[in-house]
Amino acid sequence: MQIARTKEELRAALAPARGRRIVLVPTMGALHEGHASLLRQARELAGDQGTVVSSVFLNPVQFDNASDLATYPQTPEADLDVCRKCGVDVVFMPTPEVMYCPDRSITLEETHLSTVLCGAKRPGHFAGVCLVVNKLFNLVQPTDAIFGKKDYQQLAILRRLVRDLDIPVCLHGAEIVRGEDGLALSSRNVRLTPEHRAAAPTIRRSLLAAREAYRAGKSASEVCAAVVSTLEAIPGVRVDYAELVDAETLHPQTDENRLALLAVAAYFGDVRLIDNIELTRS
Ligand code: AMP
Repeated sequence: MQIARTKEELRAALAPARGRRIVLVPTMGALHEGHASLLRQARELAGDQGTVVSSVFLNPVQFDNASDLATYPQTPEADLDVCRKCGVDVVFMPTPEVMYCPDRSITLEETHLSTVLCGAKRPGHFAGVCLVVNKLFNLVQPTDAIFGKKDYQQLAILRRLVRDLDIPVCLHGAEIVRGEDGLALSSRNVRLTPEHRAAAPTIRRSLLAAREAYRAGKSASEVCAAVVSTLEAIPGVRVDYAELVDAETLHPQTDENRLALLAVAAYFGDVRLIDNIELTRS
């Protein structure tokens, strides 16, 4: 496995790989089993002849909250072990100084899907995501890239980025990996207090209950209200949003026969967790 810390090292590491499949998995590090599953899928997709590239970069531009960035876990040595075990060929591990020019002045804003859910709550977040992912696409020039459905809105926005800018890459969405208790794995889970860690699987349980209620004919607002009241019954928990939207447009449903998405973000103390579930009426 090669480790590239500069753009030049990355270009050199990828030179022999050009012309064959190159599969990119962007991450912010503090890798867990969710990331590992994306990396293994990348290895599978790339096969023996192709190349798997993982980026490990805590992108400051996508953080709207300075203390979230400052407390975000960083475990670079363990991350390299995970990458090695998953069969990654090249890890790109730049610093912010390597990644960005100090006087950078281009922004990349998606203006429809980013206005709702996390985008409405975290100003500038998705512009930062689009910027860094577009840079990674230009640097790596992957044939394929894999993103998790845990960040459902992110995946939808990146599909739009690729479509609207004609970026020649095929995006793949990977299923959410959960702990045995149902909690979606997240780098931020290690920051939960023991009490909040024990209570956090309630997010998943409330989403499963919502799926049943929706199937049984409850309205979108009833379903969302039940999620909010279940979660806010936990001491120290505040729901940032719980919304039922069209799974493709991410805006309020206009046709209940289409796939719906129930997305939730909740603060457990100062740790913000997200999860989602796809819903149908029958
Ligand atoms: P992050 O390091 O949080 O930016 O995540 C990097 C990639 O891993 C993103 O595409 C995430 O959607 C994905 N990811 C993070 N957690 C999970 C999970 N529990 N299951 C599946 N994918 C995940």
